[in-house]
Amino acid sequence: MPALFKTKNKGSGIGRHATVTGVLFSFAVVVAVVTIMVLSALERVASKSNVLDDERSRETMSGALHTFAAQLSATLNDYAAWDDAATNVYASDGMEWTVSNYGEMSVNSSLFDMAIVVDDNRKSIMAYQEGKPMDGTLDDFFAPSLWALFDRVKAAGPGQTPEATGFVDTKTGIAAVGIALVRKKSGELDLPPGQHRYLIFARHLDAGKIDDLGTTYVIGGLKLVPAETAATYFVKIEDVVGASLGKLVWVSRAPGDIGYGEVRPMVVKALCLVGLFFVVLLVIGLLAGRRLRAEEVRAREETLRDRLSGLLNRDGLRLAVDSFVQHAAQTNRNVLILYLDLDGFKEVNDAYGHGTGDQLIRAVAAGLKVLIPEGAVLARIGGDEFAIAFTSEDGDAAALQLSEQILDFLAEPLEIGRRVVVIGASIGIASSVGGTVDREELVRRADLAMYKAKEAGRARMTLYDPAMDADREERNALELDLRMAIEGGDLTLAYQPLIDAATHEMTGVEALVRWNRPGHGPVSPEVFIPVAEASGLIEALGLFVLRKACETAKQWPELRISVNVSPGQFRNPAFVDYVRYVLRQTEIEAKRVTLEVTEGYMIQNPQRTRQAIERLKTLGVKVALDDFGSGFSSIGYLRQFGFDRIKIDRSLVMEILESDGQREMLQATVALARSLDIPVTAEGIETEQQAVAVRLFGCDTLQGYFFGKPMPAEQITERLLDARSKKMGARRISVA
Ligand code: C2E
Ligand code: CA
Ligand code: CA
Repeated sequence: MPALFKTKNKGSGIGRHATVTGVLFSFAVVVAVVTIMVLSALERVASKSNVLDDERSRETMSGALHTFAAQLSATLNDYAAWDDAATNVYASDGMEWTVSNYGEMSVNSSLFDMAIVVDDNRKSIMAYQEGKPMDGTLDDFFAPSLWALFDRVKAAGPGQTPEATGFVDTKTGIAAVGIALVRKKSGELDLPPGQHRYLIFARHLDAGKIDDLGTTYVIGGLKLVPAETAATYFVKIEDVVGASLGKLVWVSRAPGDIGYGEVRPMVVKALCLVGLFFVVLLVIGLLAGRRLRAEEVRAREETLRDRLSGLLNRDGLRLAVDSFVQHAAQTNRNVLILYLDLDGFKEVNDAYGHGTGDQLIRAVAAGLKVLIPEGAVLARIGGDEFAIAFTSEDGDAAALQLSEQILDFLAEPLEIGRRVVVIGASIGIASSVGGTVDREELVRRADLAMYKAKEAGRARMTLYDPAMDADREERNALELDLRMAIEGGDLTLAYQPLIDAATHEMTGVEALVRWNRPGHGPVSPEVFIPVAEASGLIEALGLFVLRKACETAKQWPELRISVNVSPGQFRNPAFVDYVRYVLRQTEIEAKRVTLEVTEGYMIQNPQRTRQAIERLKTLGVKVALDDFGSGFSSIGYLRQFGFDRIKIDRSLVMEILESDGQREMLQATVALARSLDIPVTAEGIETEQQAVAVRLFGCDTLQGYFFGKPMPAEQITERLLDARSKKMGARRISVA
């Protein structure tokens, strides 16, 4: 994978990390804030409930004090408004009754601990404390507020209850004190004022009583303290005149605090759970996000990949080479790029179908993968075009070496399923030294070099050369001119005689196309035919040559006419139809026409070739194998394809006199062809010796400058006329 993808991923990784931390941090903050808010709300609830509870305690406590006094008051009423008391207390011998019913009752009573009877003048008649006569005077024992209560009772008017209760300071503490007029239950009393007697009950708020209160009313730490003592929770005890006697204080139960203390850990736990939940959510989200991003990256990468081969595609290559060039510029390395075009892929596709073609592409891709150096990228940039790019410290050497290995690999027959196919490749190489040539230009150069390699023939590699640019321009201009020449009918034909080896008579001609390019002069077909083939102009050119040759040959009934056919034409399934069409149009006898085809195409597409040749032969035309001996051809093809004739290539004929090897080879080839009953033409005969030699070897037809260069049709006509008149002369002589 190109470095580019990696850097991109790394970059977004850092970004993602930052966002994750950010989101986690925000979550933490939110959870913390929520925790604080919930806790402070709870605290508020707690202190509120504390306050409420304290208020309740205070109410309870003051109620309790009230009840304490009220109980005393009820008891007092029972004892003072009593018919027996109204009799005995006032009786002169009532002392015994008074002591046993009042005084002695003050022991072990929860209701009162002192019972006193006084007269109207505050004089004590009986005073008992805890069941015993009390020591000292009343004034010593009670604070003066006792007499304020007493005065209230005395002052009670008709209709008012002559009773009063209140708290009074005593020598031993604070006591609830009640004073009541001793009278009949009905309230009546026969005695006049001045002779009245009063019952005083006192009930001390001692420690035991206070404990009882605390237990009864559920108030903790209840105790009595002096009025001046500072306290938070208390109830004041005041006497009748409103003077503070002391305070009942207690410890707040703080139920809110207790509840808060209990609830707080639960709340914290719950919020932690919420926090955890969010973290889990976040993690799930992150994972989902990561998966999405991974899918996105995969999808993006897929757009850079070729589906069939799994290699990078043209876009992928572009990115990779861009990053190579950038990298090379920084590190002063060289970017090397190889463009590779398979020879013969189209033929495999045509012959065996796309399935086999696809398999071939995969097989080539797999092979190339093994060959490329580490760090190199391999791309499929077209149907049968591949590219390899890598950086290197040395110049072209690495690329040349790799190309050689690739060519060696592709020269081997490839097994595709049960078929064995032979392909090859043309390789163009370009380099960007120190990243000085940008991707676009680099790719253009490699493409151009590849084109050159292809032009030069199969299985070649070519290094880009600036001269190629000039060539390319020249070639483009040539193509343009050629198109115009074809459209404008400016091409002409030359005809080269084909000679009978035995009689040296002209038996046929080969039509050879000629082009006088305006402003340039004559251009060799060896230059413009490849251009026509590469540009698709060959179809129109071929059609023109065939028609023109056939039309022209009509005036030479005794001659055969040979026409060259390019592989590009032969490959076209409609070719046979268009030959039939021209034959019909020009009304030439089919058997006089020979189509010369070169072997290149046959090797790659034997089945198609055989079919095409068969169909042509049903039209009646002959098919010759041209340039035999110049390439890969073997005699096997001759038999396989049913050629009517072979033409030994000029290159083989050239040296038969100088080279024994060449001569022997030509001899053997001709002998073999003849053994298969296939007649042989020798082309490129320039001397008489060559003509004699090839004739001896068995060639029945000869062609070459020795017998005549390609010439205009008129000269062929002249030659024919010459030959006819010579024949006539000879006949005349023989007749004479
Ligand atoms: P070819 O088919 O092998 O044609 C024979 C070539 O050898 C011709 O070159 C001819 O001028 C040349 N030649 C013939 N005798 C001699 C000789 O004794 N010595 C030497 N040195 N050369 C000789 P030309 O006309 O330049 O054609 C070159 C090639 O161009 C042809 O080779 C053929 O492959 C192609 N070509 C020519 N015309 C056409 C055409 O109409 N259609 C197609 N498809 N190809 C054509
Ligand atoms: Ca030829
Ligand atoms: Ca030839």
